[in-house]
Amino acid sequence: MRLITCGYHGQIHLGAVEGETAILPALAGTAGLDMLGLIEAGPPHWRRFAAELAGSPPRCRVALEEVNLLAPIPRPRKNILCLGWNYADHAAESLAAHGREPVLPEHSVVFTKAVTSVTGPTADIVLDEAVTTQLDWEVELAVIIGRGGRRIAAEHALEHVFGYTVVNDLSARDLQFRHKQYFLGKSLDGACPMGPWIVTADEIADPQQLDLRCWVNGELMQAANSRQQIFLIAETIAVLSRGMSLEPGDIIATGTPAGVGFARTPPQFLRAGDVVECEVEGIGRLSNRIVAGSG
Ligand code: ZN
Repeated sequence: MRLITCGYHGQIHLGAVEGETAILPALAGTAGLDMLGLIEAGPPHWRRFAAELAGSPPRCRVALEEVNLLAPIPRPRKNILCLGWNYADHAAESLAAHGREPVLPEHSVVFTKAVTSVTGPTADIVLDEAVTTQLDWEVELAVIIGRGGRRIAAEHALEHVFGYTVVNDLSARDLQFRHKQYFLGKSLDGACPMGPWIVTADEIADPQQLDLRCWVNGELMQAANSRQQIFLIAETIAVLSRGMSLEPGDIIATGTPAGVGFARTPPQFLRAGDVVECEVEGIGRLSNRIVAGSG
């Protein structure tokens, strides 16, 4: 399933996408769960929801272009967990930009983004140049946890995945590097476009074989495959959950490959009017315009 959260005629809906059609079961009159509620409800309810979608009457089917796609989880309960330097080429370009030797990390670099950074797959991103003049792009494959757990073994880790989505880990490099920890530079409002939907895990045969791409104004900036990750998804889930509970609806952004703006010569950053697009094969594409403002 391709599960969406969307606005339609003033209501927020949980639904699914089939081709160019959005299926919104609540249009049949039943009050439904939101995405987090669905994920928490567990596998029996997921199957029930799938049956509800399949059996939904024609009045639940509307043209996809008529709905306003929001982030599939518009307000996560916890910060988005993120991996830094999880592609060797990106680790190397980042170190080189700081004049350091390209040494690969032995352990994953983990940081988070504030829940208030989440925004929709086509939402405008407000850039306030009084706050940052170094807003940068990072296409990433994101994992949505379905069944929580602690001390999850790597060999069973993918059984805990509900689905996958696309995240643009927008990063204010000046804040990121000035404040030592990444958190502030990664957490500006609107700095986490997400979506356009969650593709459930059963539809992704191998999450370590997906192409990732990012374009700025149509120019290809990043192109890689998730097989190039240093720490694979299963291992990452095992490491994160060793002493910290993972819960249904937790989101893990699995890192970005080479081609980000700050490591270019000369460095390149997003400006008002730019359009940044991030795509993961088999999932979909985010397309966000940068607009000037102080909002
Ligand atoms: Zn990132």
